[in-house]
Amino acid sequence: MADVAIYGSGFAGYTMTAAALEQGQRVIVVERGPRANRQRSVDLARIRSPWELVQSGGRGGGEVKCAFANVGNDGARIEISASRHVITAGGIASPYLIHRLSERKSVTPKPFLGGYMDHPKGPIGRLIPTRHIDDLDHMLESRDDIHVFALPEAELLESGIGNHSVFVWGETRRSRSLRSRICGRWLRLNINCEQFPESANGISLDDPPEVRWRISSATRRDIDAFLDRILPRISALFGPVKRADWVAMTGASHPAGCTPLSASPLGAELHADGRLPTLANAFCVSSSGFPFAGSANPTLTVVALAERMAQTWCPG
Ligand SMILES: Cc1cc2nc3c(=O)[nH]c(=O)nc-3n(C[C@H](O)[C@H](O)[C@H](O)COP(=O)(O)OP(=O)(O)OC[C@H]3O[C@@H](n4cnc5c(N)ncnc54)[C@H](O)[C@@H]3O)c2cc1C
Repeated sequence: MADVAIYGSGFAGYTMTAAALEQGQRVIVVERGPRANRQRSVDLARIRSPWELVQSGGRGGGEVKCAFANVGNDGARIEISASRHVITAGGIASPYLIHRLSERKSVTPKPFLGGYMDHPKGPIGRLIPTRHIDDLDHMLESRDDIHVFALPEAELLESGIGNHSVFVWGETRRSRSLRSRICGRWLRLNINCEQFPESANGISLDDPPEVRWRISSATRRDIDAFLDRILPRISALFGPVKRADWVAMTGASHPAGCTPLSASPLGAELHADGRLPTLANAFCVSSSGFPFAGSANPTLTVVALAERMAQTWCPG
């Protein structure tokens, strides 16, 4: 029997596996992606101890005494017996695996979890730099930081507007200075949006899951309110901004939400420490447990959650 079974060998999976091995635990990693992932996973996590990779289709019971994985081309079933089970299967597959491990019978024939989020992005207008060009140049050329325009925290809290940000698209890290190449040309401004959970956006608990995602009029109103505030400030600092009539937005491939954070008919609520209270020895680390998607890239947050869980198991 292993000490810990980790389902998924992505960023959270690497982090958990590396930490558990460092702590001297016996680990089994259940990965259903192609075998090629294995070397990448090992390299990225700098894992030097042996670990096992099998293909999954887990199913267990109660306190998760054991789960089962389908292995190999013939789908032979093996038992996964471990003291602790950690689901790190990414933002879309994790809710499904929680559901499978908990063996809950849903009340609806085709259960659907609402609250799916991404952070939509798209072009919001053009800036013609006429003032403080050297400062703008410094921002765009910086190799250590990514600079974005955002509203102060106090203003976000007071207004309730999402934590969106505006950035200059395609002009960073150039070798020539901005002053030498703009000569009255415009720079494209893009937005990264923070989306709030909505019940119509969600995933079905099928394998593979169906994702339903749209940008609602509520999100668009929020973006408009943000642009009403931020664009005059950018304009005051750097020059005229021509705002787009319509923002054509796409997703950023950063799924978030959908693992219920409070009591739900599926009984799969997630505690802040990553515990699944309905399964005493089961945990989940993934962006599916984010309460809000944020407008920044999610992976560092996922990895930080994995690090924190590993620390609670074995402090220091
Ligand atoms: C095109 C693209 C670009 C991106 N760019 C960025 C970026 O620039 N910055 C950023 O921060 N983020 C980026 N992301 C998001 C980033 O990939 C995720 O935030 C990150 O991978 C999340 O890590 P994770 O470990 O939770 O999940 P993943 O890395 O997705 O790992 C999940 C693992 O679980 C496995 N799995 C799935 N189902 C099962 C199952 N049933 N049983 C066992 N294993 C299973 C999968 O095969 C996978 O290996 C990008 C994503 C995409 C698609």
